[in-house]
Amino acid sequence: MTTGRTAVVTGGGSGIGRAIANRLAEDGFATAVLDLNAGAAEMVAAEARAKGHEAVAFGGVDVSDRAQVNAAIQSIRETLGPVLVLVNNAGRTGFKEFMKISDESWDGILAVNLNGPFYCCQAVIPDMVEAGWGRIVNISSSSAQSGQQYMTHYVASKAGLIGLTKSLALELGPQGITVNTVPPGFVDTPMLRGSEKRGLLGGTVDHHAELTPVRRAGKPEDIAAACSFLISEEAGYITGQVLGVNGGRNT
Ligand code: NAP
Repeated sequence: MTTGRTAVVTGGGSGIGRAIANRLAEDGFATAVLDLNAGAAEMVAAEARAKGHEAVAFGGVDVSDRAQVNAAIQSIRETLGPVLVLVNNAGRTGFKEFMKISDESWDGILAVNLNGPFYCCQAVIPDMVEAGWGRIVNISSSSAQSGQQYMTHYVASKAGLIGLTKSLALELGPQGITVNTVPPGFVDTPMLRGSEKRGLLGGTVDHHAELTPVRRAGKPEDIAAACSFLISEEAGYITGQVLGVNGGRNT
């Protein structure tokens, strides 16, 4: 059954975003798969369409560029209708000793992980206000709850996203719009496998799975399920919250 509502998932071409896009399409949202990687966005949209759902790719869009974001959201609006659900998932990671982080690297990570959600929220909120209903879910990181050595820039950006979530929730609550954040921890995606390959995890994914209370790595679908719930009608009384999905690694 379709909801008659449009959802945008940034970074929807890979890993967690891919699972969220597929899940929201399955939940009946007309889903815009927005990603820097055009081929990946198209592949995910085609995957959802093959299952009979409505999904369209908006590839080659950099969320850290306000003009690109505004143009993409306008195009999504014209193709699928007003945007009433936004999942800010696109993210970049980084690993560097604090004293060696360059201005360029600091700015680059904040541009994608924090400016991106800022631009995307500003682009879609007018649609939500007009409808008197909206759902925003920001994908932060469990590292913002615990801290993570050698990832100060990344963690600062994700902690900023938690602050953005809490403040925006207070501002938009009266207009029927909820804003929540899901900080994932240790989810088996290309990003995590890339860190494993570069020796940045301090052990293999399997080793860390053994140290995780539920004894496995997270699946992208675990994060998608949490998003699906926060976006549902019955989650309307939940806003400004941090819903950790991390196998018990952070409590
Ligand atoms: P992923 O597999 O690397 O997927 C991220 C997607 O975002 C990629 O398709 C990437 O495109 C796209 N992207 C990157 N920069 C972008 C930009 N500027 N504009 C638009 N799209 C962009 O990562 P993931 O593991 O699924 O992570 C998804 C989110 O969860 C991220 O925000 C990440 O920080 C967060 N997270 C993940 C974990 C984990 O354990 N995996 C833990 C905590 C938080 P390209 O491939 O072209 O770069």
